Amino acid sequence: MYIFNKITVTPQLPSRIEKLSEIANNLWWAWNTDFLTLFKKIDGDLWEQVGKNPVKFLKLVSQERLELAANNPEFVKEYDKIVENFQNYINSKNTWFKKNYPDNKNDLIAYFSAEYGLDQILPIYSGGLGILSGDHLKSASDLGIPLVAVGLLYKQGFMHQRIDGYGQQKEEYIDNDWSSLPVTPVKDVEGKDLLVYVNLPKKKLYLKVWQIKVGRVTLYLMDSDIDANIPEYRGITSTLYGGNQETRIQQEIVLGMAGTSLLKALGLKPTIYHMNEGHSAFLILELIKNTIKEKQVSFEMAKDIVASKTVFTTHTPVPAGNDIFPIYLIEQYFNGYWDRFSISREEFFRLGMKPNADIKNTGFNMGILALKFSGKKNGVSKLHGAVSRELFGEVWPNIAANESPISYVTNGIHTCTWIAPNMKRLYNKYLKPYWQDDIQNDDTWKRIYDIPDKELWDVHMQRKTKLLNLVKENITTRLKREGYHYDEINNIVSKLDPNALTIGFSRRFATYKRATLIFKDLERITQILNNQGRPVQIIFAGKAHPSDGEGKELIKYIHEISMKPQFKGKVFLLENYNIGLSKYLISGVDVWLNNPRRPMEASGTSGQKASVNGVINFSVLDGWWAEGYDQTNGWTIGTNAEYSSYEDQYQ
Ligand SMILES: *Cc1c(COP(=O)(O)O)cnc(C)c1O
Repeated sequence: MYIFNKITVTPQLPSRIEKLSEIANNLWWAWNTDFLTLFKKIDGDLWEQVGKNPVKFLKLVSQERLELAANNPEFVKEYDKIVENFQNYINSKNTWFKKNYPDNKNDLIAYFSAEYGLDQILPIYSGGLGILSGDHLKSASDLGIPLVAVGLLYKQGFMHQRIDGYGQQKEEYIDNDWSSLPVTPVKDVEGKDLLVYVNLPKKKLYLKVWQIKVGRVTLYLMDSDIDANIPEYRGITSTLYGGNQETRIQQEIVLGMAGTSLLKALGLKPTIYHMNEGHSAFLILELIKNTIKEKQVSFEMAKDIVASKTVFTTHTPVPAGNDIFPIYLIEQYFNGYWDRFSISREEFFRLGMKPNADIKNTGFNMGILALKFSGKKNGVSKLHGAVSRELFGEVWPNIAANESPISYVTNGIHTCTWIAPNMKRLYNKYLKPYWQDDIQNDDTWKRIYDIPDKELWDVHMQRKTKLLNLVKENITTRLKREGYHYDEINNIVSKLDPNALTIGFSRRFATYKRATLIFKDLERITQILNNQGRPVQIIFAGKAHPSDGEGKELIKYIHEISMKPQFKGKVFLLENYNIGLSKYLISGVDVWLNNPRRPMEASGTSGQKASVNGVINFSVLDGWWAEGYDQTNGWTIGTNAEYSSYEDQYQ
């Protein structure tokens, strides 16, 4: 590439340390962070400048620094150890899956999700659903589960959040630069970019296929932003949960249908298709279409064949939590499908409705499509399983609602992603060797009692100090930008107190999560926070969905509270909650607060992240905590009771 007056030179990796590039392009480092410390050693300032992104770092680092590192015996010793770990991991034949399922050699699970939260440098996730998908891929990699994942490559991803001087959320969209991220185009046999397509009403839509390596697992992502597409279609995969309903149906057609074609184009033959939430449920229609064509069978028969290889996980405890498309859009985008399936037009629309629905006033519900046609269906906690059986009871009118065929798998986390590095070192010292490979075994954790209280507390205080520094920086940057006076900012951040009991509350600002509940009795919370002998401080963070006005009001309210004299320097509101910030919060606070409206949480996972860092949960008995709480490991808010109204539940 020639640029007038400017030559871009990409540094050449010395061969002694050439594996840096290969490992930088595998998200393995997201939970093996020793690798990242190598970059800090090569050039610490640059490492911070590039936002802890190893791929970008390798593009910008000076040749001189690389040579110095390659000639530094200490550095290469450390490097060799990490390369060996990486190679052993990637090549290991002795995985949990191989040991437990030696006969399942041909299994392949295709995992579909609209979002993936893998690391802070890849903003293609919004919240818990994406974090779960990301953690799933990492865990599948660790366990050796044969899994391939499918998603969309969002040019702008999810919004970056600014909170202005009045507490108003401002959304910013920043284009991702794929050449500086661990994302690479997939090539076809001729070495050209692999393209797949799907038919849309106006024209074929072509999708460029990219891949992200997550340890032993590959995530394929589709991208509509290529010259082959008409301008109107190029932006289809631009933003996560952006655009209007038509953008949404287009995205979901890409995810479910083009995603299925993509696996075919790669020669992969999944034995199971897993839909993580209803966004990908159109894959059912694609599979039925292919089955009818390839096996020359009836719609009914194809339906059964498809059910034998599909699994659906529902994540929401409200019917409207699923995408519901107006029938005119279904008509427009699926015209011709009823003929192919040899069913009537009305029967086709009813695929996404409860059996007794009034077709005139009902939309096409992606969750119902998935429930009706998947062989296995599950909620995300024991309680959510029960709630889902009642909620979707009408999908099976001939059986009692509580007998609906929906089970549950309680959500979990990828533990090693979320344990802070210094806590990991403590575990290395006291738990058995290679504890990371056996975290599902209760025995592995028994030796945790051997950790002396003081050492545990010291590690916790180190995390707390790091968190409070970050709070200071986040608040200072925000208030400075918004024109607050230096003295005022200093007055706020200087009150941050490592000896105060620190409560954390961060998650999406959705109304059911009730972020402002703790301020219900202002007088009481004022006394608690200002207790001289036993001071308390609370740190909030979270994004509201761009179109969620009520969620944004919650942010504004917390901002206003934090600026009141009695709460200044006691209540802190951070902007731009993401994986990076989350790692500091869940490990650096003393108490993790969660008070959703029961049973709206479904599962929740942030409390699990807190607990593996020794941070104590204080939570409504909802989602995972209803199963995790054992009367000794934290506190509950309220009881297991059902309330007839949400107002009652506030008492
Ligand atoms: C873990 C996590 C979530 C999910 O948190 P919940 O409290 O379970 O909703 C959302 N966003 C980020 C950035 C996370 O790390």
